[in-house]
Amino acid sequence: MDRTFSRSQELYDEAQRYMPAGVNSPVRAFRAVGGTPVYFREGRGSRLIDADGNEYIDFLASWGPLILGHCRSEVVKAVAEAASRGTSFGAPHEGEVRIAGLIREFFPSMEMMRLVNSGTEAVMSAIRAARGFTGRSGIVKFEGCYHGHSDFLLAKAGSGLMTFDSPDSAGVPVEATQMTSTLPYNDIGEFRHFMDEKGDQTAAVIVEPVAGNMGVVPPVNGFLEALREITEKHGALLIFDEVITGFRVAPGGMQQKAGIVPDLTVLGKIVGGGLPIGIYGGRKAIMELIAPMGPVYQAGTLSGNPVAVAAGIATLNMIKGAPDFYEKLDAKAGRLTEGISRILAERRIPHRINRVGSMFTVFFTDSDVTDYCSAKSADRERYAEFFHLVLEHGLYLPPSQFEAAFVSSAHNDDDIDSALERLKEAISHMSLH
Ligand SMILES: *Cc1c(COP(=O)(O)O)cnc(C)c1O
Repeated sequence: MDRTFSRSQELYDEAQRYMPAGVNSPVRAFRAVGGTPVYFREGRGSRLIDADGNEYIDFLASWGPLILGHCRSEVVKAVAEAASRGTSFGAPHEGEVRIAGLIREFFPSMEMMRLVNSGTEAVMSAIRAARGFTGRSGIVKFEGCYHGHSDFLLAKAGSGLMTFDSPDSAGVPVEATQMTSTLPYNDIGEFRHFMDEKGDQTAAVIVEPVAGNMGVVPPVNGFLEALREITEKHGALLIFDEVITGFRVAPGGMQQKAGIVPDLTVLGKIVGGGLPIGIYGGRKAIMELIAPMGPVYQAGTLSGNPVAVAAGIATLNMIKGAPDFYEKLDAKAGRLTEGISRILAERRIPHRINRVGSMFTVFFTDSDVTDYCSAKSADRERYAEFFHLVLEHGLYLPPSQFEAAFVSSAHNDDDIDSALERLKEAISHMSLH
């Protein structure tokens, strides 16, 4: 295929003069896969068009938010209408009440909530609420789980950090992470042992109930149940970071699918319908501590932004109104990943595909991927080769081995067939080292 990327190259050259590595978020810079990042001009349904006019079937979905695909007319209309009535009030408005009501319908555990502007901010605020409520400082997280870039959660986080092989960030004082303990994902014994020793100092245990930021890694049987049981026993709060999984694996997130009630939940990505949003919430007794009701401070100039809220409401209403929404997504994603696996197997390329509903990762490894350690066994060079070949053939996947890809409701059966044809052609060029 003859795709040229000259306009992307020009933009990238100029961008590097203004922004570190020419980007506003690290993984976008393609460092994990090499080459020039693609600059985009527009998205339509399941497709992306880059600055050179090349078209792609999009499986990045802006890292998850676009469960309806690009420019779904109902969402665009809601955004335009909201913007025409005012882009920000810095004061309460009806949209906030409506989206909160909708969220609580799907997430009954979120008895009360607050809207903020990003997943990072929501996690940071949820942790503060947990510490305020328990009067304790300790936080437990799991290796390879990413919870945004706040100081105290940048210990052994996945996502961009994993790509760059730097478990932590410069600029974070050791003191800031001293109260954070990082345990292996999916290891119930290790967790039980830790909590037996430190449970009474632990304010909260935060987890991605399906990990998405070391590539997709589902919880093993009993893991989430053990987190619930053991946190409760020690009076620590359980926080589900459902920024990816909320409205992705089920309308009520992984907590609905697993039948587990966390104390606090963090949402983002899909709930903003492609605009910036984050939401945290949970038990009333905890959320009543938030200022000005209680002593835990948290605020935001643009929080509850009417345009972002309108996009969120439109997206959630589309999901709510579509019969078999998740069954259909699941079937399409299943067909896609089975197809990819078949094509790779025909070429005898070792791989594992982890998939939960419409989120998946193709790992180039010959052992099962169940935690950070096994995820890291995947062959990044192989992924880089795969990524560039499929890019050349018109598929946009995450530019790192350790990220999730997504199927949206905008992908129809023809898109999946076409994606598989493009993949087959791309994979036929993979080296067999
Ligand atoms: C993306 C993500 C975040 C951070 O959200 P931002 O909006 O990027 O700040 C937090 N937790 C998880 C699980 C995420 O995937």
